[in-house]
Amino acid sequence: MNKYIERVLAETKAKNANEPEFLQTVEEVLTSLEPVINAHPEYEKAALLERMVEPERVIEFRVTWEDDNHEWHVNRGYRVQYNSALGPYKGGLRFDPSVNLSIVKFLGFEQVYKDALTCLPIGGAKGGSDFDPHGRSDSEVMRFCQAFITELYRHIGQDIDCPAGDLGVGGREIGYMYGQYRRIVGAAEFGALSGKAVATGGSLLRPEATGFGAVYYLVEALKHDGESIEGKHIALSGYGNVSWGIMKKAAELGAKVTYFSGPDGYIHDPDGVITEEKLNFILEMRQKDSMHCAPYAEKFGCEFIPNTKCWGVKDVDIYMPSATQNDVDIEWAKKIAESGVKYYFEVANMPTTNEALEFLKAQKHMVIAPSKAVNAGGVSVSELEMAQNAERLYWSEEEVDKKLKGIMKNIYDSSVEVAERYGLGYDLVAGANIAGFQKVADAMMAQGIW
Ligand code: GLU
Repeated sequence: MNKYIERVLAETKAKNANEPEFLQTVEEVLTSLEPVINAHPEYEKAALLERMVEPERVIEFRVTWEDDNHEWHVNRGYRVQYNSALGPYKGGLRFDPSVNLSIVKFLGFEQVYKDALTCLPIGGAKGGSDFDPHGRSDSEVMRFCQAFITELYRHIGQDIDCPAGDLGVGGREIGYMYGQYRRIVGAAEFGALSGKAVATGGSLLRPEATGFGAVYYLVEALKHDGESIEGKHIALSGYGNVSWGIMKKAAELGAKVTYFSGPDGYIHDPDGVITEEKLNFILEMRQKDSMHCAPYAEKFGCEFIPNTKCWGVKDVDIYMPSATQNDVDIEWAKKIAESGVKYYFEVANMPTTNEALEFLKAQKHMVIAPSKAVNAGGVSVSELEMAQNAERLYWSEEEVDKKLKGIMKNIYDSSVEVAERYGLGYDLVAGANIAGFQKVADAMMAQGIW
């Protein structure tokens, strides 16, 4: 391996020994940069990699809020403002008990290269809290969001940092946070948060954007192999916002999601989630209970397989892990490889362990695509929301959709082009890492020491 990469990896491991998820993503990205680092010896003198792995700013804060029984609770809030060389920090907020500094740093690091890949002027950040929204009333969620943003507001702004949603943070939570932000700053500074309801400055198509974008990217990759999406069957994990967007767009384009899952097990619906009734049911099911997908099987008379994952099923064309990090480890990866299914497209952030990803990439019959490219449609439409807010107008759904399609095609094309240019062949994973990295590197080199 390149000596410079080796040294920075070793230093990063020594400095951040208690952050396994963060180290996992740094290792995955840095090792794939070998050809570009070899070609640019000047990066070492500029301490470029050292600067890239170190976040520009880490904010940790206390969030105190009162529940419906007047009991007080304390959670920890985070915002890791990773890199702003390309523009204001941009990235989601995650509310989940699993949130800790390692998780936020891994998501922030990924976000920098994902946001760069969109070719839009945004830097990368991520944040959130270990707050558990499950079972909390609407008023409790509102009070938590208000307390969270009362602390975070001083660090964000339309030209500084624009947080959005992620796991546990949807339109409702963004609405409460934006309301409180507006109240504190006393200005309709719409661009300080994205993923807002359309009535309050949100963009049409934002809720669907990540899933739709993933399918647009998939369409490009299929085209490369002379294939069409029509008639294809998809197995995915999760039934959240992103999975739902994939189900909807796949159905519109003549494909179908025949497997999906929740923390309780997976559903097999051979007819596919293609009707409006089924899509609406999934929305309702998630709103009521994001931990159980079994009710879908009862309602539509299909199979529910408890306490396991659908990886390894043979009667699909594409796998799309869309739930959360490290969903697919080496054991699941072996089942996936044995199934003979050709396409493995990551959608959730880092859904594959590094060992599993290496193993899958080595399978000659498979095409692997990385999440930072496949799921970049969400943050892209968030940036389009910021652009609409800055212009004080709304674009039509057609206009946003057209732009989203163009962005996804560009992400795919540039990943393919850059991998070929560095002699890596058709490598969508390394291509995305290098293309994103190159944008950030160019900006950082141009801006001098910082
Ligand atoms: N959390 C999403 C992501 O990882 C959306 C971020 C955004 O819209 O800023 O890209």
